Amino acid sequence: MIFAITTLGCKVNQYESQLLREALAAHGHREQPFGRPGAELSIVNTCTVTHRSDAQARNLLRRALALGGRVVATGCQAKVYGEALRALSPAVEVIPFEDIGPALNIQVPSRITGFCGHSRAFVNIQQGCGNFCTYCIVPHARGVPRSRPWQEIIGEITGLYAAGFREVVLSGINIGLYEGGVAALLEKILKETPMPAVRVSSIEPWTLTDELIRLAAGEPRVCRHLHVPVQSGSDAILSRMGRPYDARHFRSLVEKIKALDPGVSIGTDVLVGFPGEGEDEFGQTRALLEEADISYLHVFPYSPRPGTPAAAWGSTVDSRVAKERVALLRELSRRKREAFIRSRVGSEEDLLVTRAGRNSLRGVTSNYLMVEAEGKARVNDRVRVLLEEPCEGYVRGRHIG
Ligand code: SF4
Repeated sequence: MIFAITTLGCKVNQYESQLLREALAAHGHREQPFGRPGAELSIVNTCTVTHRSDAQARNLLRRALALGGRVVATGCQAKVYGEALRALSPAVEVIPFEDIGPALNIQVPSRITGFCGHSRAFVNIQQGCGNFCTYCIVPHARGVPRSRPWQEIIGEITGLYAAGFREVVLSGINIGLYEGGVAALLEKILKETPMPAVRVSSIEPWTLTDELIRLAAGEPRVCRHLHVPVQSGSDAILSRMGRPYDARHFRSLVEKIKALDPGVSIGTDVLVGFPGEGEDEFGQTRALLEEADISYLHVFPYSPRPGTPAAAWGSTVDSRVAKERVALLRELSRRKREAFIRSRVGSEEDLLVTRAGRNSLRGVTSNYLMVEAEGKARVNDRVRVLLEEPCEGYVRGRHIG
């Protein structure tokens, strides 16, 4: 059978699509790119963090329906808002990820052995979240926190190394809830696998420990990159969001990281237009982010998710105002990124090669800078580069070893 998969949303979804791909291939089925005629099975692995991701999933399903064959929707939207997907057509099969093995008559494996189309493999270390932030539908889709046994994670990473991967990204729904701590897991990975680079994906501010900060800032095999979603700089809004920290805590985390190593890249997420965000609250967010020594922001306009407490509060921020705020913060992100790049010019960095030409290479540094350089290398090599010149969105560098 010929199948096609397309994936929306986070790293966990991408990891789960890889599990599906490997399961289908192990049963003798052949993959082709999504959206081409000829697929007997099309799978849309959906996301539901915003109404936009919902709309994207519906469009992809319509596209698959138009091409014929079996059409399956799985992932978060399928889990919590399945009715909206069934309403598209009776031909859409809505199947929660945990039921997909029996439904497709395949055995979903417990680990991946590759990562289609990526130089860095995502390794899922945990599932679920019990925080129930008032805007977030994810706990309803992903359930209570569960940690994957560390032996299984070690086995997966060892296998990925043997398959040629030289960087993995530890991913999950709320990875800071990993039982025993992410820092302890990292220590085990460093001791028991030869993987030269391990990156930690987004980690909530109240779960980021001193041990983990020390590893990111001081252990050469742990990437010098932390993504810590602040969501708002207003304590009143953070409290309405149900997030257990304040702006001061976020500020102190950033200071602690930078005091250990100013070269660590710190990213954050911000939610703009949350109910009750007036000029003062937005001003506090903007001031915190202006002042904090961070390298980039991901800015999201608030999108009410039916079934969450915040959705019942209505949208209290005018959409034109929310758009202006989003634009202001995206501009701030651009300036932050440029400032970080400029601050690193003249330094040497470890780089994972993601593209290689005859005498050129492109890749991502441990501290999450996109670099282009002259020199010979192969995809997945780890090389040393000297950062020489900031360009639009990337840095020109020199391959030095
Ligand atoms: S911590 Fe909050 S935002 Fe993150 S998954 Fe849990 S409920 Fe959602």
